[in-house]
Amino acid sequence: MPRAYNYTRFSHPSQALGQSEQRQIELCEQYCRVHGLTLVRDSEYTFLDRGRSAFLGAHLDDGAELSRFLKLVEDGTIPAGSWLICESLDRLSRQDSWTAMKLLGGIVESGITVVTLNNGEVFADMKDARKLIMAVLDSSRANSESSHKSSRLRQAYQKKRDAASDGKAVFTKQVPMWLKLKADRSGYDLVPEFVETVRMIFDLTITHGKNKVAQLLNEAGRPTFKPSVNGWGTSAVSHVLNNRAVLGEFQPMSKLDDPKRRKRKPVGEPIKKYFPAIIDETTYYRAQDAVAGRRTAKATKQSVKFNVWQKVARCIHCGSPMHMVNKGRAPKGQTYIECSIGRKGLCESHKLIRLDHSEQVFRAILACLDSMSLVRDSGGKLAKDLAAINGRIAEQEAKLSKAVAAFDAEPSPDIAAAVRRMRETLTELTNQREHTQGELAAEDAIDYKEFMRRLDLESPEGRAAANALLQRLKVLVFADRGEDARNPSSSYVVTQDGEPRFAVAYADGKAGYRKLSPWKHARPWMIQRGNPHGPLLPLHMSAATALKHAGPVHFEPPKEAGSRAYEIEEDADARRQADADEDYWPIQE
Ligand SMILES: [Zn+2]
Repeated sequence: MPRAYNYTRFSHPSQALGQSEQRQIELCEQYCRVHGLTLVRDSEYTFLDRGRSAFLGAHLDDGAELSRFLKLVEDGTIPAGSWLICESLDRLSRQDSWTAMKLLGGIVESGITVVTLNNGEVFADMKDARKLIMAVLDSSRANSESSHKSSRLRQAYQKKRDAASDGKAVFTKQVPMWLKLKADRSGYDLVPEFVETVRMIFDLTITHGKNKVAQLLNEAGRPTFKPSVNGWGTSAVSHVLNNRAVLGEFQPMSKLDDPKRRKRKPVGEPIKKYFPAIIDETTYYRAQDAVAGRRTAKATKQSVKFNVWQKVARCIHCGSPMHMVNKGRAPKGQTYIECSIGRKGLCESHKLIRLDHSEQVFRAILACLDSMSLVRDSGGKLAKDLAAINGRIAEQEAKLSKAVAAFDAEPSPDIAAAVRRMRETLTELTNQREHTQGELAAEDAIDYKEFMRRLDLESPEGRAAANALLQRLKVLVFADRGEDARNPSSSYVVTQDGEPRFAVAYADGKAGYRKLSPWKHARPWMIQRGNPHGPLLPLHMSAATALKHAGPVHFEPPKEAGSRAYEIEEDADARRQADADEDYWPIQE
């Protein structure tokens, strides 16, 4: 296997401490695993430019480690054909972009493949030199923009600070209702009654919908912010939840020059730690996550019972979503799921699957996935962290898509730089999420029976949480009903991230598991027959083929719940073997 060397660079001294370094190394290891490289770990052969800020100057020996690397290549210590893995080329200043360009050019020319992890770019030979130079120049431009921006921001801060030392007014009058500008305008006082209301809103939102929150506030007799408003309503609650001033942030807004213009617009970046923070970030993002989860819940228009299958269940015959449908009235009536186009006669399947039967299967599926977060007691810190991270990710994704849209409408280097930064933040958060998920998975592999006992599919919150989890895990379940209407049975293929993983069936009044055929034969289902490089089969067709080859139903549940439950050792072996000898296509039938 080719050898890989790690080059790490920290643009700021404080980054060098702990986390950032650890994360960069983890990313590097992961890359090597995926690409079959052997990472050289001797400290002599890891290259670390530590503690120099790229944009505050002070890079006397910049490129020191890169040039050390090049020397080792030139004297043959590091053989041609090796790889150099860099986290990114970002934040090189103008001076060191020249240095970096020369050095990296030399390194590539000596037969080393250079990878930048942040965007997965690979520079393998001199044909890539143009790309490499562009990348370096790009990073230097981004840097000059960010230094522009930072100096503008610094000036603004400076102005405020100067004014403060002169004893002049510094603080804005655009004050959230729970704060009051001090008489001498030197800062803010809390309005205790309103602060408590805000905290209640966040706490309640984690467990209740907005309607309920408003109702509880009114029952508790919490006064509204404006005396003229009679009682709390959902929009007032939303308004508080969306106001980042609770975290202490101040977003400067445009002045209302034109009275016809109803809305102010944000100007510039929000200023952190401007107001006293009254909500901690974890609580803030948990509440956001809860709201996002409920938004999905609302979409079903099932106020009483949340459809756990929404956006998860698909018809195995045509790939369309399965919808919930009521037939007849209680107590005789039943709720079913069915192919959404089958009911219009557009799919060969218009068979109904009883919801209660399918939900037994739903539980069985959850037991075999990374679903520990659903059954952990709510005091679990990791679960809270995870919810907070998810909230942040949702927020960043929304920001990013706005920025990308803005860029499409009117491309500008400013927006490009902002997009790049948002992507970095997003990558960072995704890594955090993976890390936390990993910790959660490691923390408690639990007993299957215990899992089933703790799983809450009764309350709307529990149902929404289970559904949201499957969506996050990129799980799609393809459902098929058996022919015999008098002895109802149904089969389900669980796919994750576009691959069939395992099968579950409902028969004889209970849910059981079916093994998919070993990986060696499973792999080609996803690919058009006989053409390993051809387009992928639609997922429902892969699922249908997988089901055809699935083993018999067995009702013995796994001992443990969690993602390891279905990954039976021999399957993993078969998969490794198939990956190794790559002789798995095309298959004959
Ligand atoms: Zn269908």
